[in-house]
Amino acid sequence: MTDAADIPVRVRPEIAALPAYKQGRQASGDAFKLSSNENPFDPLPGVAEALRAESAVNRYPDATARRLRERLAARFGVTSDEVHVAAGSVSILSQLILATAAAGDEVIYAWRSFEAYPWLTVVPGAVGVQVPLTEDARHDLPAMASAVTDRTRAIIVCTPNNPTGPVVTQAEFDDFAAQIPSDVLIILDEAYAEFVTAPGAVDGTLVLARGTHPNVVMLRTFSKAWGLAGLRIGYAVGHSRILDAARSTGIPLSVTAHAESAALASLDVETELRARVAVIAERRDRLAAGLREIGWRVPDAQGNFVWLATGDETMAAAEAFEAAGLIVRPFAGEGIRISVGEEESVGKVLRIAESIVGALP
Ligand code: PMP
Repeated sequence: MTDAADIPVRVRPEIAALPAYKQGRQASGDAFKLSSNENPFDPLPGVAEALRAESAVNRYPDATARRLRERLAARFGVTSDEVHVAAGSVSILSQLILATAAAGDEVIYAWRSFEAYPWLTVVPGAVGVQVPLTEDARHDLPAMASAVTDRTRAIIVCTPNNPTGPVVTQAEFDDFAAQIPSDVLIILDEAYAEFVTAPGAVDGTLVLARGTHPNVVMLRTFSKAWGLAGLRIGYAVGHSRILDAARSTGIPLSVTAHAESAALASLDVETELRARVAVIAERRDRLAAGLREIGWRVPDAQGNFVWLATGDETMAAAEAFEAAGLIVRPFAGEGIRISVGEEESVGKVLRIAESIVGALP
């Protein structure tokens, strides 16, 4: 192959500088994969059958995922124009940013948060404005509101925050949203909403139902609680003018008929879904309580993961977990995110966490 330095094609320097997307390591053997906030359960009843029934793979899917949009619209009491479906909520994040932020515009988000936010912002040449989390790993919404300038086009609020876990409360969100100019898009990224048990947490469906902030778009996914990460399907609910703009920036036909049918089949068995979510939330609470008992300061965990602030010892701590057959997600110099997985992984995580807690500063 020609040496990279000899390729004259002009790649945008900010794109060349982007690190490659780093996926959570795949587990081998009998290791537990706790690095990607996936659902440990098999697909919900009816999903396998729905996938088998989708035999016409020689045909393109319905470009607008109309059946699923109508179903979700009925669920949330909105029109189907006010629902947008795409290949994962990360696609919708990309589309919303492309639709609002041009070169030099600003996108505000908390940091540390979902690692896609920085690169999705760099792609259109926009500037990411990172507002540090508070001491207890929560969004600092007053600081985020103060960061707004006349170049701000979008603000992302991630609740529960990936990777640290706490939610934004409804009262905090209301105060915040009231301060944001109405021409700035607020993206409420609720990828983990179904797992939230904290009273008073913000709920995008209520924000939208009140209709007081038409600049808010709620983002949800079938990847986490619904267990369809491999099929790539997520959705947004919000004003049709904003979602039409997002649709215009998306790659057409990215949502497969398989993904749409699996999502519809999942929505048919919501009772089962709720039962599974309750199991995961209980496991999470047991894990967080156990970690606190052995001396870890674990932020309020409201998603399907817990956060260990391992600081400078992060990579060594991740190795200790890995050596014990637990694939976790390290963020060098900051901490480790551990997904709530199979029941048997809980005790194992606690044992390793106890063995390393003494080595920390
Ligand atoms: N938002 C947050 C906060 C996430 O953690 C993730 C996945 N890790 C996503 C969005 C994207 O999920 P998906 O594209 O699978 O819907």
